[in-house]
This record gives sequence, structure tokens and C-alpha cells, in this order.
Amino acid sequence: MDTRFVEGLNPQQAEAVTHEGPALLIIAGAGSGKTRVLTHRIAHLLASGRARPHEILAITFTNKAASEMRGRVEALVGPEARSMWVSTFHAACMRILRREHDAVGLTSTFSIYDTADSVNLMRLVAKDLNLDPKQFSPKALAARVGRFKDELIGPEEAVRLTESASRFTLEHVAGQAYGPYQARLEAANAVDFDDIILKSVRLFEEHPDIAVKYREQFRHILVDEYQDTNHAQYVLVREFVGMGGAGTGTATASLTVVGDADQSIYAFRGANIRNILEFEQDFPDAHIIRLEQNYRSTQTILSAANAVIANNTERRPKNLWTDAGAGERIVGYAADTEQDEARFIAEEITRLMGEDNRAPSEVAVMYRANAQSRAIEERFIRAEIPYTVVGGTRFYERTEIKDMLAYLAAVANENDDVAVRRIVNTPRRGIGDAAVEGIEAAARAAGVSFGAALRRLDEASRMTARARAAVEGFVALLDDLRALAADNGPAALIDAVADRTGYLAALRASDDPQDASRIENVMELVAVGREYGEENPDGTLTGFLEKVALVADADQVPDADGGGGVVTLMTLHTAKGLEYPVVFLTGLEEGTFPHARSMETPGELEEERRLAYVGLTRAKERLYLSRAEVRSSWGAPQYFPASRFVEEVPGDLVDWRRSEGLDELERARAERLSRRGESWSGIYGTKGVDRATGTLDDRRVPPSPPGSAPGPDLGLGIGDRVSHDQYGLGRVVALEGSGHNAVAKVDFGDLGVKRLLLRFAPVVKL
Ligand code: ATP
Ligand code: MG
Repeated sequence: MDTRFVEGLNPQQAEAVTHEGPALLIIAGAGSGKTRVLTHRIAHLLASGRARPHEILAITFTNKAASEMRGRVEALVGPEARSMWVSTFHAACMRILRREHDAVGLTSTFSIYDTADSVNLMRLVAKDLNLDPKQFSPKALAARVGRFKDELIGPEEAVRLTESASRFTLEHVAGQAYGPYQARLEAANAVDFDDIILKSVRLFEEHPDIAVKYREQFRHILVDEYQDTNHAQYVLVREFVGMGGAGTGTATASLTVVGDADQSIYAFRGANIRNILEFEQDFPDAHIIRLEQNYRSTQTILSAANAVIANNTERRPKNLWTDAGAGERIVGYAADTEQDEARFIAEEITRLMGEDNRAPSEVAVMYRANAQSRAIEERFIRAEIPYTVVGGTRFYERTEIKDMLAYLAAVANENDDVAVRRIVNTPRRGIGDAAVEGIEAAARAAGVSFGAALRRLDEASRMTARARAAVEGFVALLDDLRALAADNGPAALIDAVADRTGYLAALRASDDPQDASRIENVMELVAVGREYGEENPDGTLTGFLEKVALVADADQVPDADGGGGVVTLMTLHTAKGLEYPVVFLTGLEEGTFPHARSMETPGELEEERRLAYVGLTRAKERLYLSRAEVRSSWGAPQYFPASRFVEEVPGDLVDWRRSEGLDELERARAERLSRRGESWSGIYGTKGVDRATGTLDDRRVPPSPPGSAPGPDLGLGIGDRVSHDQYGLGRVVALEGSGHNAVAKVDFGDLGVKRLLLRFAPVVKL
């Protein structure tokens, strides 16, 4: 036997590399060499002559992982490995669909719709169906249709499944919209992202000749991170190995899957932990190998990870060990604020680079939500630490942040053409391309800026009355914001922009988890504004924009290649499969991580804990756990208790550099603040609201958690008379938001106009 590729492997790993048989399941904890075994297994298959490169199909979770694996196999067996298929599910399926387009009713030039495209398409469908976009956002509908596709549910079946749901639920409406959406997609000769998998499954199911062709080609199928495959991907794997039709027939190809149920972190995207837990039932003759030795981390890091994940009940216990020695203790740090946390991380990295001679590339900083990178990025820029943000965009390059800043710039300077152009129809307000061209022509003719031309509409002859009205509304909005900016700081202005433009309302109306994180980013920008106001009591809007421009300037980031690479910043989801000598896990607070959205059901909490396990097990040598006692959340400082995940780490493993952030007095004050309806448990609904009267104490509408119950429907209209338990009689002068976030502005005469969150306000319509 060719033993080249088992050298240095432990007996279980070696067995996994050389095993011959139809189905092999390698199930093992983090860092036990699963990915390494998969790579060596491919090399061994090739070198021993059991397989030729084109007979191999290896599936990884990201394109980055795919190119790494290909590189490693090439290094092991040479360039002939190039004709292997090593890719993500999507890339492999695209390759097949491009070849077999006829069979699935597409022409060779079919296009792929990305998420934004499919949302736009869904917008058209929603219009056809006369759906109220405020009630059913195209984004939420498109996302729901995507979940049907993950489950291999077609349009007719979706209608059947959702018919009994109430007509006013997203579920029901999405079922109705799916068919017309798909019809439009097909008319456009396009597939969306989820179709790529679905159509491949259908291709194999409906065209046995084609299925046989690929089954004859791919003799060896290997899947990494198997725990995160969704139902459609799972069925596809069975098709590939010739097991289509559940348990019937014998597999023709050999299948190797590696995974770790404890690292399943994509349930929200339809990934299904069941796939791995029931593998034995689906493949009764599967050989199962467990790997128990961890080669990545020190015993200290491993013990911490094992202790945390042991708190999950929905799991099989395992026994992961290492002989790497205890190593250094974990360092804990409880910061006063997120700035203080960022300062600690930056100082520590600088020290590691100096005293310990660490390269920046050895260090990763991880967090739960994208918005958390902002405070850290600003510190790194000041400390001249080179960094990169993986799997996300740098804070100031994110669309929603650029949009908000464009509003500010337009408020500060009407003649800032780039800014005004950016926001003139963002969010959509009916100023289409034709109108914009008309305004541009008018600006050119009059020799004035685009912003100034907005005020001279009669010269823009080609404009419809509707567009004209929309432009007038936009100009009035900017003027209002200008008036507000005259005697308020940047924070209030950003808040007002987000609110009055309808920008936040549009994000809130969406069920897309990405939009939830966009809301967080906008609120983070409000926090930036407030910090600026605190540091510069006399600061101006222009001053603020200048400060931001300096931080946002990418050139500020030191060159990535001084030889040592850069520090990597990323979310915990992105970190899966990766490893670093030094890892900082940040934001370990109840409400931040575990995320407030995930604290309500035990199932979601267990998924958060698996995410914590993924984070902890990325570290090879040094691990830092940090939290901030006060962090700005939704634009206002909040007091956060320590994350349960930190408390689950045995105390003797952690060296607390600082376990008490705030001194007693400050803590008492913070706690008092949080008790006034501002605790973390209230982030999504009660902040800034007087629960007794429903009065909002600032301009903010508290965002509701995705999927929260709809609010009371009082059927209020402008001009309606209402009675409020405390304020007495009043008249509705304006309405904002809907459902959970419905707000009415009510004029109570002598008591003034109050903004009431209807969910809380004790009002009745008269
Ligand atoms: P994860 O669950 O995080 O994806 P994994 O099980 O895929 O982890 P690998 O990334 O394959 O683990 O391996 C973790 C580290 O241990 C890698 O640096 C790998 O090179 C090393 N390693 C694995 N097996 C051995 C071994 N037998 N001898 C030395 N190093 C090993
Ligand atoms: Mg791996």
C-alpha cells in the first residue's frame, strides 16, 4: 500500500484516508484533522491509482476553502490534480447547468440573479398581485421563496402547504407569489441563487441518462462541513452517489462526508443538523470513524471549548483531547465601553507584535455582528495596525453607511453632486432614471449644480407630474433636515435621516437577516455621531464629516504587505474551518453574543452556543475573551451583563486582566439606566418608550425583532379622534410605521403633540 499520505497521521486518521467502501462518515470535533484527512484522502486516491483526477468531486463550504484544498492536493500529488472538481455546491452545480441547460429549459446564455436582482423581480410580482409593500416586503417574500427552494418545494406544492395559513401572513402570500415569481424568472431565462441547487436536483431526477453520465464520471464524492448542508444539497449528494429515491438501489460512487454536529451554525439558512445525525440511517452500510485528538489548540483552549459546548443538550457527547500541553491561560478583559475594549485589543496586539514577535497575520479578531467591527477598526487605524475585514465590508464602505453619510453631506452642502445623486432616489421615492436625466439636463443648461437644479423644476421639461411632486418632497425633506441640523448634533441628524427618509422603516419591514444587521450599522453610526458630540461639544456637521472622511479613507490602513500580513477581522460565521495562533473573541455580552434575537428559544440559543464553540476552537495558542459593560446599541449606550458563554468557561482557565470594568458608582448608574426600560432584553422594543403612556421620548422608533408579532391594529387614520388614559382627548396628526412599530402622532391640545408607540399606548379610537 502507498503509505506516503498517512505518514504523521494517527491511526484513526490513517484509516479514514485509506478506507475503501461505499460510504464513510468522519465525525469529529473541531481541529481534529477532518479537512486534513479529506485532503490526504484525495491525494491517496490519486496516488494509489484508485481514482483519476476527473473522477473526484470535492465540496467545500466557501470558494476560499475550495482553492485552499485544491492547492494542498496539488502540493501533495502535483499539477495533474487540476482536473478534479473542488468547489462549493453552487459552483459545481453551475458548471453542470451550463452544460445541461437544454434539459432544464434554459438557453445557453441564461443569467444568474443575485439577491438584489431577485428582490427586484419580486417587487414586480408583488405589484402584479397588488400587495402592499409595507406589509409584505419584496425582500421578505424573496427570502421566503428561497427557503421553499432549499426544501425542494415547487410552486404548486408551496400553494398547497400555505393555503391554510391566514391570508395575511407572509407564509401564505409567499406561497401565492412563488409561482408568478418563477414564471417571470423563467421568462427572463434566469435562475436565482437557490435555483442553482434545485434545478440540478430536478435535472438528475427527471433525466436519468444525464444522472447516469455524472454518476459514471464522479466515482468519489467528498463533502467537507457536511453539518451545514441544507435539504436540497443533501438530496443532490444522494443523486450524485446514485442513491436517489431514499434508500433504494445501491450507491455507485463512494461518498465521504466529514462534519461536526457541534459546529452546525446555519440552521437559519435551511442547513439541517439532521443530515449528520441520521447519516447512519440513510446510508446503512456507512463506515463511521471518530477522530478524538485535536491538533490545533492547547489543552486550556480545548477545555474551555469543551466546557462551553457541554451545556448543549441536543448533542452527542464527545471526548476531544490534545497533547499540546496546557499552554498559556486564556486572557479575560471586561472593558468599560466598546472603545475601551478596542483599545485593549489594539494595545495587546501591538505588544504581541513587539515582545512576542508575532506577525499581524497570526492574529484574528472575531465578533458576532458586522457592526461591532467599527470601534475596533477605528482603534486599529489610530494604532497603525494593518487589518482586513473578511466576509464583510469595512464599516464605512457599507451601502447603508454611505447612504447615511451622503444625506449628511447633502444637508451640509446642497452642491455636493455625488452625495445628492446618491440619495435622490434612495430609498425609492419615485424619482426614476428619466427624471434624474431631466434634472441633469436642466442643471447643465442653467450651469448650476444638480442639487440646485432640483429647485428649478420647470426647466426640467421632460418630467412627469408624479416625479415633480417626488422631487419637491425630496427638497422639502432636505430643507427640514437642514433646519434640524442648525441646532442639533450629528447624532440627532443621523437619527432623523434614518427615520424621516423611511430608510429604517424599509429595513425593518424586511425579514432578511442582512437587513437586521444593516439597521445595527445605521444605529452604530448614530453612536459615532454621539461620540463626536461628546468629544467636540462645539463640533459642526462639517467637522463631523471631515473626521469620518479621515477614518473612512482606505489609504489610512497601513500597507498590507510589510511581510507580516494583516490582522483579520471577521464575524464568527465567517471563521468556520479557519485557524489562527492568536484569537480575540469580542463582545461577549448577553444580548450581543448570544445575540438578543437568538435568546428567545432554546433551539436558537444552542445554535449560538455552537457558534461560540466554533469561535473558541479557532485559536491555536492564545485566546482572549473580552466584553464591554456599556456598548452602544441602537444608537444609545446600554448596560450589558457578561455573556453566559464566558461564565461557562471554567474560572481557573482564565486570567482576568480586568474583571470589573465599571466602578461601583458607574455600575449603579448604568443599572439604573437599564432598569428604566433600557435593559438588553428590551433592545428590540422598549427603549426610549415610556411603557405606561406609550410616549416615545425621542425620534426613534424602536426596531422590532424579525418575526415579532404584529402590533395592535387600531385602524387609525389621520384626523381620527382618540382617547388616551393619561393625556385625554386628542386628534391623530400623523402615522408612521406599521404593526409592531406603528406610531401615531397625536395632538393633545394644551399638552402638545405626543408621539405614541401604539403597542404600548393606552388609547382607543373614538
Ligand atoms: P474544523 O472542525 O475547525 O474544520 P478540522 O477537523 O477540519 O477542524 P483541520 O483543519 O484539518 O481540522 O486540522 C486542524 C489542524 O491540525 C491543522 O493545522 C492541521 O494541519 C493539524 N493536524 C491535523 N492532523 C494532524 C496530525 N496528524 N499531525 C499534525 N498536525 C495535524
Ligand atoms: Mg475543517
